[in-house]
Amino acid sequence: MSYDDWELVCGLEIHAQLKTKSKMFSPDSGDFGAGDNVNTHPVTLGMPGCLPVPNKQAIEYSVKTGLALNCTIRNTSVFSRKNYYYPDLPKGYQISQFDKPLCEEGFVEFKLGDEKKRVRIERAHMEEDAGKSTHHGEYTLINLNRAGVPLLEIVSRPDIRSAEEAAEYARAVRKILRYIEVCDGNLEEGSMRCDCNVSVRKKGDEKLGTRCEIKNVNSFRFVQKAIEYETQRQIDVLESGGKIVQQTRLYDSAANKTFAMRDKEDAHDYRYFPEPDMLPVELTEEYISKVESTLCELPDARVKRFMAEYELPEYDSLILTQERDLADYYEAVAKASNNPKASSNWIMGELLRELNEHELDYSAIPIKAENFAKLIQLIDNKTISGKIAKTVFQELWKKDQDPEDIVKAKGLVQITDEGAIEKVIDEIINANPGQVEQYRGGKNKLFGFFVGQAMKATKGQANPEIVNKILKSKLDG
Ligand code: MN
Repeated sequence: MSYDDWELVCGLEIHAQLKTKSKMFSPDSGDFGAGDNVNTHPVTLGMPGCLPVPNKQAIEYSVKTGLALNCTIRNTSVFSRKNYYYPDLPKGYQISQFDKPLCEEGFVEFKLGDEKKRVRIERAHMEEDAGKSTHHGEYTLINLNRAGVPLLEIVSRPDIRSAEEAAEYARAVRKILRYIEVCDGNLEEGSMRCDCNVSVRKKGDEKLGTRCEIKNVNSFRFVQKAIEYETQRQIDVLESGGKIVQQTRLYDSAANKTFAMRDKEDAHDYRYFPEPDMLPVELTEEYISKVESTLCELPDARVKRFMAEYELPEYDSLILTQERDLADYYEAVAKASNNPKASSNWIMGELLRELNEHELDYSAIPIKAENFAKLIQLIDNKTISGKIAKTVFQELWKKDQDPEDIVKAKGLVQITDEGAIEKVIDEIINANPGQVEQYRGGKNKLFGFFVGQAMKATKGQANPEIVNKILKSKLDG
């Protein structure tokens, strides 16, 4: 048998927690890091006689997300009850959306290696989260802080054909959510969770295979690994004559395996019906346009603009637009320095390396864009060499200041006085007669040795072009 005969068919459901101050239908805070069971308004607890009131901001954020994901926004969407019993769901049902979701028929585009991919979005609907159960051997503790927290569930079409593509799609969605500032995208804290629907079919088959859903995967790396494992498991079952049972499965990252949690229910098992305690959400075109006008430039558009406006390679543009804060910083440096490509090189090189090393966010860059730009200008106007600039950068990183002050205080100004450089070179030539003879005898590689000696003698401050020029005339002439 060969795995190559088979094809993965995969779709993702991404639950994104909206960054609102209060919950989806109640006024308590959605901060589930608070003390256990502190954020438990009567509506959250499902007390008799309580009525839910939809959160305006959650609706606005959901519309904003739908637009950013190229969806159509419904003018009338309806909340529905999804009925199931679980101890961390006090009402006995979750308020979600069923047949009339807020957002429909969108798509996300992203790069996978050199290939451009498009994954269609079937729908994105608003719902509330459940509470959290933690199991401790013989007993279970329930924390309802998370119950009622607003979620937007983004459901893709089964357009994904590899585990890597699934992870890249999820990253693209996260990037958009963070750009438009509706969700912090923090997977570790659970503010973004992925359910992966996985099935396989023989290549060339039209019909979809039976799918399994891997629930609540909490990192992009695990999304990829879980799907890889599950794909292989299903192929093995089918190749050995077995059948795939529709199931909900969990991924155990330590064992790198998925295992069955329960046989998968169908939509009709939940007895969905329209939420009788709430009116439909009616949105005018005027309101939708107003929300649309608050959208920032999205990552894809920004990549294209960086390539056109700053003449950057796509590679640079993709890295610099990873996060809105980084892209904003880059633009400030590029504009102030008037050297977009050097700005890109310095930010992608020195700056990102330091940020990584110190595990700092792009929002915490310790150097003002203005000062970073000045550093680049000092190289461009030949005040300092690129090599010295690295020393200046280290000083800037330690203490944000005008780089010119560092250059003055440390006496780092580049030596461009040809007479002074010639003097240094004469001394080097006189001190190394052996090397001079070898070089003139044809050992060209030794040229680098002389450059090195000259830079060493001037503590890296000699202008390298002048050093090269004088050395050439002295040695070759
Ligand atoms: Mn859901």
